[in-house]
Amino acid sequence: MKTSGRVLAEQVKRIAESKVFSIRSPNLPTWCPGCGYFGIHQGLNNAIQRLGLPHHKIVVVSGIGCAGRYPFFTDTYGLHTVHGRALPVSTGVKLANPELTVFAVGGDGDGLGIGGGHLPHIARRNVDVKYLLFDNSIYGLTKGQPSPSSPIGFKTKASPQGNKDAPLNATLLALSYGASFVARLFAGDPEGITNALIQGIRHKGFAFFHLYTSCVTFDKEYKTWEHLKQWVHPLPSKHDPTNLKQAINESLDDSFSLGILYKRME
Ligand code: SF4
Ligand code: MG
Repeated sequence: MKTSGRVLAEQVKRIAESKVFSIRSPNLPTWCPGCGYFGIHQGLNNAIQRLGLPHHKIVVVSGIGCAGRYPFFTDTYGLHTVHGRALPVSTGVKLANPELTVFAVGGDGDGLGIGGGHLPHIARRNVDVKYLLFDNSIYGLTKGQPSPSSPIGFKTKASPQGNKDAPLNATLLALSYGASFVARLFAGDPEGITNALIQGIRHKGFAFFHLYTSCVTFDKEYKTWEHLKQWVHPLPSKHDPTNLKQAINESLDDSFSLGILYKRME
């Protein structure tokens, strides 16, 4: 084993023995160094640890994309399904065994493009699935094409003259489809993700987590860490998460405000 490999193996062993990252499987994430997905992974790990959820009662379901690999990296049950189908498969898992905590994970291409027709139905049915949408506004796994959440004018190798299509607003979609819990979060703030996830996991019904994240490899101009850090800020302190109209107004505002926008009182 080369020195760097040995150092890495020792670090992994130390982390495993410390139990600070208990959700992690023996398979190390294959994401690029600096990818925002690591922060999301940390946030989810902490939520599961703090809630004391037994790993054999957790299922992580993904579609295709860089986020699609997520189930390999967690010490839980997992299903890596086909493109865009994490939500219907999650619904099936939850119906088959309601005792399970079911997470659906996927990117903006997978969830808003290929699988965009599934979000309204899981939301209006209020299926008790926790959906983490990793939104970096680009197709990362296929090496950088505009996605349904890319802004107009966004230049990639596949759109050298700038993206021509208007972006979808995932938070607004989830709210208008009737999602009973909606949070908007930032991969650079794992603690914020943890706190929202804890509340969303406790919530009985569909919970949608819109996670702003960065694709450091293929996006050098839009959702870079530098930009995201400037844009994000907490929801106004007067925000009432039980007020759907307020939540919709907040989601219309292009301000990247973070927190729990909406929680329907049952
Ligand atoms: Fe993350 Fe982009 Fe690398 Fe995919 S290609 S792992 S989204 S940085
Ligand atoms: Mg993406």
